[in-house]
Amino acid sequence: MSEQVRARMDELIEQIEHHRVRYYQEHSPEISDAEYDGLERELKQLETAHPKLVRADSPSFRVGGGVAKDHPQQEHATPMLSLENSYNSADLADYFERCETEVGRELVYSAELKIDGVSLSLVYEYGSLKAAVTRGDGRVGEEVTLNAKTIRNLPLRVTAWKDVPRMEVRGEVYIDRADFAQINEKRVAANLPLFANPRNSAAGSMRLLDSREAAARCLRMFVFQALGPWAQAINSHIEALKQLKALGFPTNPQNTAIHNLAELETLIEDWSAKRPGLAYDTDGIVLKVDDTSYYDTIGYTTKFPKWATAYKFPAEQATTQINDISIQVGRTGVLTPVANFEPVSLAGTTVSRATLHNFDEIEKKDIRVGDWVFIEKGGDIIPKVVKVIESKRAADSQPYQLPEACPSCSTEPQRVPGQVALRCENLSCPAQLERRIMHFASRNAMDIQGLGKERVQQMVEQKLVTDLVSIYQLDDEKLWRLERVGTKWINNLLAEIEKSKARPFTRLLFAVGIPMIGEKVAELFVERFPSYEALLAADVEALADIHGIGEKVAASLHEHLRLPSYQATFAAFAELGLKLEAEAGAQRQGDDALQGKTIVVTGTFNELSRKEITDLLKLRGAKVTSSVTSKTDFLVCGEKPGSKLDKAQSLDVTVVGEEWIAQWQNP
Ligand SMILES: [Zn+2]
Repeated sequence: MSEQVRARMDELIEQIEHHRVRYYQEHSPEISDAEYDGLERELKQLETAHPKLVRADSPSFRVGGGVAKDHPQQEHATPMLSLENSYNSADLADYFERCETEVGRELVYSAELKIDGVSLSLVYEYGSLKAAVTRGDGRVGEEVTLNAKTIRNLPLRVTAWKDVPRMEVRGEVYIDRADFAQINEKRVAANLPLFANPRNSAAGSMRLLDSREAAARCLRMFVFQALGPWAQAINSHIEALKQLKALGFPTNPQNTAIHNLAELETLIEDWSAKRPGLAYDTDGIVLKVDDTSYYDTIGYTTKFPKWATAYKFPAEQATTQINDISIQVGRTGVLTPVANFEPVSLAGTTVSRATLHNFDEIEKKDIRVGDWVFIEKGGDIIPKVVKVIESKRAADSQPYQLPEACPSCSTEPQRVPGQVALRCENLSCPAQLERRIMHFASRNAMDIQGLGKERVQQMVEQKLVTDLVSIYQLDDEKLWRLERVGTKWINNLLAEIEKSKARPFTRLLFAVGIPMIGEKVAELFVERFPSYEALLAADVEALADIHGIGEKVAASLHEHLRLPSYQATFAAFAELGLKLEAEAGAQRQGDDALQGKTIVVTGTFNELSRKEITDLLKLRGAKVTSSVTSKTDFLVCGEKPGSKLDKAQSLDVTVVGEEWIAQWQNP
């Protein structure tokens, strides 16, 4: 039985990896997304039912494989040296001369785009990804294997290396600009400090303890080096990259052979023009002698290999005068100051505005309207103000004053506690309405089907909805004003909206979109204070006293429930008949989905405590016992299970993992 399962799992893993390469590397899938999902689902089901058989290189880890306690230090078998930087033609001429003098002949060089990310070393044993280690100080890094397994375009299994005891592959982990923008958008919504750039975000993501969080960061990688027996047979760096690509590794397409400084200068010009259009940040060009057999001849300094150099693209600067500082409202209500200046040419384009990031930045750099400033365009597409030229400041210049009103709705913005951000908290602010409605109607909130992104955009544009309450004032006549609608769609939507009035109070509390109040947090609050009235009456200490609720979260709820726009909204919801209190005994109420089942829980779990799991199962009608017998229906098995697992296996009791619990969590 378990041999068959193992064989099927092996087969599924090979298939999934094969199709993943077709999809991510070659962009030519051979099967439909649905078929691919089917393979992943089948594997996941087998793994859930047979946790002991889960392979370390299973593609299921791509969605996150649990929580690490820490990232242990690990020494690199070969040090990860950094590269010497070159900034201009003179530096580069030195490099070419140095290499060719040592070798005594003209050489071919590999030129590749330098990705602005964080370096990572991957160790494959017999073709399976075994360990991933950050660069650290070059000799010792941190082991971050679970996080590395979430990197979307990385093969966890390399069939061609199945007989090779150890191979090491190095590369750069990065986040696409588009994914980065979304990550920061989510951080704004959760009131977390923003990442400065994709590089910082990638570095932070690699060090997360919860790999499921890392999976949400959309990490990608380009590999640039292989070390080990397989690589020793290849004497050309460019050829090694080609072969790595053929094995399914992501390599950057911008790499080419060059022969001298003149060719390199043409390339620098060419790539400098192209790089703003790439999906990811780059900061230079890496040059390596292509013939790797010369590496020892050319040699190393204590810090760098002498056969390579990193040419850094210059950050271009210009000076200009700030005409005005305007304010933008993001979709989450955060106000961002923007400097508008006299148009000036910078890195090949004319620019007239730059983000100032936040109000602290303005204060720190003392940026004022009328100031002459240096602006710079580096790796980022958006220019930034580097510094003020104080000698050119007018005598009557005044420090910048914080905005007193949201530019979209004129409401006075609020300081986010403990943060530098200013936020417009008006629930009806037009700039935020679309996002608020999408969140309100989302599946885990009020679950109103039919309110898709495009429809909401149209409704907001045509002012059919002006705030959350107005969703419940939609009618036949209003909805007919939309384009391409039919009776059926309208009736369905109106029925969905009506149905949503019956959603439990917990969901409504989550749906209004108070910063930091997620689904789980809303549940915890309502469990203790089961109505809007009770929550409103509670002081901040009582709210923070709830197990699992932090001070900041309590403060956010406390503060927002007192804002006039929230109070008006809840009052209107009450009038419309929405549920502003939990149903009597709602938290106690379970069902009998597991009635008659005898279940044993063993081991340690990541997400829930054993007690929480037991309570959950009891709530669903299960009988939870302490020892495994032939009458046991399921053994819920965490890490370090001990003898109960052996017993269960000998009695053919179905063994399930922590994932199995998830389905019983939300009645
Ligand atoms: Zn506003």
